[in-house]
Amino acid sequence: MLYIGCHLSSVKGFENMGKEALEIGANTFQFFTRNPRGGKAKDIDLEDVKRFLKLAEENKFGKLVAHAPYTLNPCSATKKVRDFALMVMEDDMKRMEYIPGNYYNFHPGSHVGQGAEKGIELIVDVLNKIIKPEQSTVILLETMAGKGSEIGGNFEELAAIIDGVHHKDKLGVCMDTCHVSDAGYDIINNPEKVLEEFDKIVGLEKLCALHINDSLNPAGARKDRHARIGEGHLGTEAIARFMKQPALEGLPCVLETPNELDGYAKEIDLLKKAYY
Ligand code: FE
Ligand code: FE
Ligand code: ZN
Repeated sequence: MLYIGCHLSSVKGFENMGKEALEIGANTFQFFTRNPRGGKAKDIDLEDVKRFLKLAEENKFGKLVAHAPYTLNPCSATKKVRDFALMVMEDDMKRMEYIPGNYYNFHPGSHVGQGAEKGIELIVDVLNKIIKPEQSTVILLETMAGKGSEIGGNFEELAAIIDGVHHKDKLGVCMDTCHVSDAGYDIINNPEKVLEEFDKIVGLEKLCALHINDSLNPAGARKDRHARIGEGHLGTEAIARFMKQPALEGLPCVLETPNELDGYAKEIDLLKKAYY
């Protein structure tokens, strides 16, 4: 079963996202838990959530991916910045329980000169503070392009974070095709080998979701500039070949390409055709 969707605006609530997803041929989607730059989240509308859950069940949606604000930095050198990440993620964890059993993806952050080891230690600390053994949400570390001092630009760093977290069953990975290619993993010519390496270092059972993006830059560029499917250095064929790897069967695939809804509808259609 292919679960495919895209990033949608959460401004009009959950039911609206569900309806938009159906309109563009999606059966999963991603959304920001609040303003992507952080800030206060809207109150949860229980009736809206209830209508959405019904729609999702009736239409056999796959797991959803919530995305934390991308400006959070849980491994900043400044305590105030780390505390803000902790506060937002803690609040997001409570809010996620209204749509139980889904994923919450975040960028591990940038160590800003403290070194990767220190950065990893700080991220582990935040995760151990926010993860409750009874939560139904699985938190996902996003694979990063490795630009600047970003943590998560290689599988070893992700493995080191998971290693330090107590409740490992609440932690997984979301692989972003633009980011891993930018980080230097050859998913165009050798997706099998990249996944083998991931399995050896992190474990494929930890891979929970995919971000499907083309990249404006060649492999190893460490730039993180998303392109529309087929308009970048990966290409439609390589992306579809990657998605078809048996190890990725059933994972939610979320587009984060520069598109409006109609553009997403076309890409979903294109990828479905290439997939089946
Ligand atoms: Fe992201
Ligand atoms: Fe991404
Ligand atoms: Zn990106």
